[in-house]
Amino acid sequence: MQYRSDRNGDPISILGFGCMRFSKKGNNIDIDKAEKEIKIALDGGVNYFDTAYVYPGSEVAVGEIFERLGCREKIRIATKLPHYLVRSLDGAKKTFEEELKRLRTGYVDQYLMHMLDDIDAWEKLKKMGVDTWLEEEKKNGRIRNIGFSYHGNTDNFIKLLDAYNWDFCQIQYNYLDEHTQAGKRGLEYAYEKGIPVVIMEPLRGGRLVNLLPEKAKKLIAENERGYSPAEWGLRWLYNQPGVTCVLSGMNSEEMVRENVRIASESEAGQFTDEDFELIRQVKEAIGETMKVGCTGCSYCMPCPFGVDIPLTFHCYNAIYSENRAQARHEYLQATLFRKTPTDASACKKCGRCEQHCPQHIAIREELVNARKELETPYFKPLRFLVGKLHLWG
Ligand code: SF4
Ligand code: SF4
Repeated sequence: MQYRSDRNGDPISILGFGCMRFSKKGNNIDIDKAEKEIKIALDGGVNYFDTAYVYPGSEVAVGEIFERLGCREKIRIATKLPHYLVRSLDGAKKTFEEELKRLRTGYVDQYLMHMLDDIDAWEKLKKMGVDTWLEEEKKNGRIRNIGFSYHGNTDNFIKLLDAYNWDFCQIQYNYLDEHTQAGKRGLEYAYEKGIPVVIMEPLRGGRLVNLLPEKAKKLIAENERGYSPAEWGLRWLYNQPGVTCVLSGMNSEEMVRENVRIASESEAGQFTDEDFELIRQVKEAIGETMKVGCTGCSYCMPCPFGVDIPLTFHCYNAIYSENRAQARHEYLQATLFRKTPTDASACKKCGRCEQHCPQHIAIREELVNARKELETPYFKPLRFLVGKLHLWG
């Protein structure tokens, strides 16, 4: 196993165990199976385990498994405060106590504000006194590192990084999201600031393995490295020094062994020009199956009316190249809880963005098409409700 460091210089394994997708037995998590998989990961040197309050049954399973294995002090548990469900400081404290109980532990190594997607949400938490409370818990040793997980755009990510002295953060990042969400620019900004970055969705929820177009599969199969599509996705991440730990939702012994092997062999800066070229060709092949040729470069941003253009096109493309329900969910997740609307409906057709698009996309026209596909009849009533109840962030 290779290790990178937290802000104190302590080691974090570059492979982390994502505990959201444990196998089920009937309606419940198969604890015995998950324990065996976790044991293999531990033996392979994995020391980072990620769960969340809202992952059904996951915190309880993690608590039981590590109690059985008796190795709590050798590993890091990351879990998350669902701040969007919390209305007061007391609510946050109560949730944290419940998490400690579920996890059968007296402390959390990595505590994240879950889906903290813009600065308004953080300001709201600060007004409630959450920042002061987190620091007190850190002094008491019940929280060891304070961070946030993120799905918004690059600019907001950078603002959030600058808004607090974070110990770490967690972003969705993979070669297809190189220029969306926090993106490479965000990752490198965090790296410059010395903030460790944990990666989620390294294979885009399996899309970079199971849903690759035939042309991309062929390019990978014919490459002399002999890597699988998953190995290419993981190695592309490990190649970047700003990536501290890559979470993988592992639910078979074979997958754990394979991921441990890849993490043991991978180092930053290993990619050759030929490797980058292969990834470029694979991305191009994926791009050919897309509806709008948006590269996510963000030259069209910022829109004076707040529209998140790259995000909208990214989700619109995902409807055709991936999965309709998943793409709509991603769009909803990224736009619904914004105090200032960023969805395609906010477009006032001023045309400013089109002057800057190197792909010469008819952005105004395509935003209308995207809106029709992404904003289901429930979107507007939901948006109204979120506004009425002030459920920002
Ligand atoms: S045309 Fe629409 S998306 Fe483009 S800058 Fe104007 S309001 Fe924003
Ligand atoms: S400038 Fe064009 S290609 Fe770049 S993000 Fe905007 S719409 Fe997409």
